[in-house]
Amino acid sequence: MSERLVTMLSTETIAARVKELGAQITRDYAGRSLVLVGVLKGSFIFAADLARQIDLPLRIDFLGVRSYGEGTESTGVVQIVNDLSKPIEGEDVILVEDIVDTGLTVAHLMDLFRTRRPASVKVCSLLHKPARARVSVNIDYLGFTIEDKFVVGYGLDFAEKYRNLPYVGVIERS
Ligand code: 5GP
Repeated sequence: MSERLVTMLSTETIAARVKELGAQITRDYAGRSLVLVGVLKGSFIFAADLARQIDLPLRIDFLGVRSYGEGTESTGVVQIVNDLSKPIEGEDVILVEDIVDTGLTVAHLMDLFRTRRPASVKVCSLLHKPARARVSVNIDYLGFTIEDKFVVGYGLDFAEKYRNLPYVGVIERS
C-alpha cells in the first residue's frame, strides 16, 4: 500500500491567515499584555508563527496534553503531561490549539483554566472540524474550518510523523 500527501492548506495560505489572526488579536488586546498558551505538541508551530504576528507584550507558555493514543480517534480523556511553568491568575490568556475536533480537549482545558482565576481566557485554533463536534466550544479566533478528514503537517502528526511538513495535508492511501 502506498501513501501520498495531498495539500489541503498551502504554506502561503496558512501564513496569510496567521497574519490576519495576529493583527486581529493585536487590535482586540491593544494596551494590554497577553499570555499565549500553546497546547503541545500539535500547536508548537502555529503558536510560534502566531506569536510573531502579535504586536503586543506577551509571554508564551505551553501545556502538554495527551488526548489520543497512537490512533486517530479521541478517547475523551485528556491527560495533562506537562503543566504551565507559571500561574495565570489575573492574566489575559489565549489558549492556542492546532485543531478543535470533538471539542473535548478545549472544553476540558477551559474548565481547568477557569479554576486558576485568569482575568480572561479565549481560544485560538488553527483548524476546526465541526462535523465531529461532541461538545460545543466557542472558538474566538479561528484559522480555517475544514471537512472531516484526518490532517497532518504544520505541527499535526500521525503517530508522531509529519509534524515538520510546512503545510497541512491529508494522507491518501492507494
Ligand atoms: P478533540 O479533543 O477536539 O477531539 O481533539 C483535539 C486534539 O486531537 C487535537 O489537538 C489534535 O492533537 C488531535 N486531532 C484531532 N483531529 C486531528 C486531525 O485531523 N489530525 C491530527 N493530526 N490530529 C488531530
